[in-house]
Amino acid sequence: MQSKEKVPVQEGLFTMPPEKPALLASKCPKCGSVQFPRAPICNNPDCDKDTPTEDVLIDGKGILWSYTTHHYDLRTPYDFHKAPYAVGAVEFPEHGLIIVGKIQIDDFSKLEIGRKMQIVVDKLYEDENAEYYTYFFKPVEEGGINE
Ligand SMILES: [Zn+2]
Repeated sequence: MQSKEKVPVQEGLFTMPPEKPALLASKCPKCGSVQFPRAPICNNPDCDKDTPTEDVLIDGKGILWSYTTHHYDLRTPYDFHKAPYAVGAVEFPEHGLIIVGKIQIDDFSKLEIGRKMQIVVDKLYEDENAEYYTYFFKPVEEGGINE
């Protein structure tokens, strides 16, 4: 059986395997503000509005800033989100950003504000044509090699 093509759910948001999981952001060389998703010019209202940005990767660990768990399935075309699932806001202090994403976790009791989180790029769903990938956040296992 031939394996399906792996495609990102949206171009330009994150790296694809086998690259190291990372979010594709932009940084203003003038004021230093970081933007995700990437923006071609700085969107800081206190900066010059036409300053071109530079590409930057967010690939470090974040901190779980807030989260919620969903206990209902979404409707078509988003019915691949099967309840229950968790969505978190993860802070990346070195970039001054809080980014929202789905959390990969089986045991919700392990979710705790302040917990160290890593970025994972993995399959979200598939159809007859392809496997669709997106970024997730995943708790860093205590004492694990990824901590
Ligand atoms: Zn700026």
